Amino acid sequence: MLQIRNLTKQYGKTEAVSDVSFDIDQGEFVSLVGPSGSGKTTILRILSGHLSPTDGTIELRSEDITDTSPQQRPTSQVFQSLALFPHLTVRENVLFPIRLQDRDAQQVDKWLRRVQLDPEEYADKNPAELSGGERQRVALARSLAYEPDILLLDEPLASLDYVLRKELQRELTRLQTKLGRTFVYVTHSLEAAMLLSDRIIVLNQGTIVEQGTPSEIYNQPETRFVADFMGDANIFPISVKSRTNGHIEVISDSLDTEIKLSARSDLASEFTHMVVRHTQCEVRPDPTEATSLAVEIDSIMFKSNNAIVETTSLDGANRYVSEMPYDRVHERGLSEGDECYIQWDPESAILTTE
Ligand code: ADP
Repeated sequence: MLQIRNLTKQYGKTEAVSDVSFDIDQGEFVSLVGPSGSGKTTILRILSGHLSPTDGTIELRSEDITDTSPQQRPTSQVFQSLALFPHLTVRENVLFPIRLQDRDAQQVDKWLRRVQLDPEEYADKNPAELSGGERQRVALARSLAYEPDILLLDEPLASLDYVLRKELQRELTRLQTKLGRTFVYVTHSLEAAMLLSDRIIVLNQGTIVEQGTPSEIYNQPETRFVADFMGDANIFPISVKSRTNGHIEVISDSLDTEIKLSARSDLASEFTHMVVRHTQCEVRPDPTEATSLAVEIDSIMFKSNNAIVETTSLDGANRYVSEMPYDRVHERGLSEGDECYIQWDPESAILTTE
């Protein structure tokens, strides 16, 4: 549906976006994810037509829309800093796009209901009388009321508290499935993107690092950058010792033993790191046959039914974390200051490039 080709945006000497190309299919929920300053908002603003690229093209159904004005594009944007008209009621805010398009004013109620706001209760209120989450819903209803082919969302949930954010995330997924529209969602949170998206595009310093389904991005990251982005990875610098039919042997200065792994046959890459998710690691009082590393426990914290066990290698050089069922921490009598072992199944490790 949308083809973005060789998009570049320069601000003086700063290259905010560098030669970025990707496609978006009709009805897809695509997230642009990356740290602050990675070029996400710049790309979104170029898609909406509010910003011109220095170079590159955007095609919509094979038609070049690079220079088309925002008003003439089939896009609508929900911003983080919600731009509701403060002097208009909720009804008038949502009515705005409906009037612009000469459609039936009755549609306001429909859009309010779609975002789970009862028109009877909310339509006559002013934005100042609403909570953050309610305002966010009105902003969403107003953007949807444009009936855009493509909805562009720039961190729309960033300012909300955890419970509300989760609730609105569920609602966004529900809405997108129901309406079958194309959503492009910008966020610095890979976790949010994983929950919502069909496809994730990870950006860093204005370029695409990787793209794939949430499962591909999480379970088979190709780069250390993407593996580390979720913040739940233990990362070991490694070098490859040998490769034999389907197996790869790696060594790491952080580990005493050589480790044999099943290699990903599709990648002939120069692997530089081994990644093991916190949830794949357990802490035990004794070493096991699986890969294990002597550590000292720094702290044990709760995370619902799990415990986050933070440890340091005995030479004090590296920190490793395990997220394991709290019951097991209790059964094994683990406590802060203990010397024990952090352990994982070698098959759960992922090899990445830099
Ligand atoms: P993100 O949305 O990922 O946080 P942005 O797209 O906002 O990133 O910014 C990408 C880079 O471009 C940053 O280095 C930022 O400082 C720079 N940048 C963005 N807008 C402007 C501007 N109007 N003038 C100069 N530099 C800008």
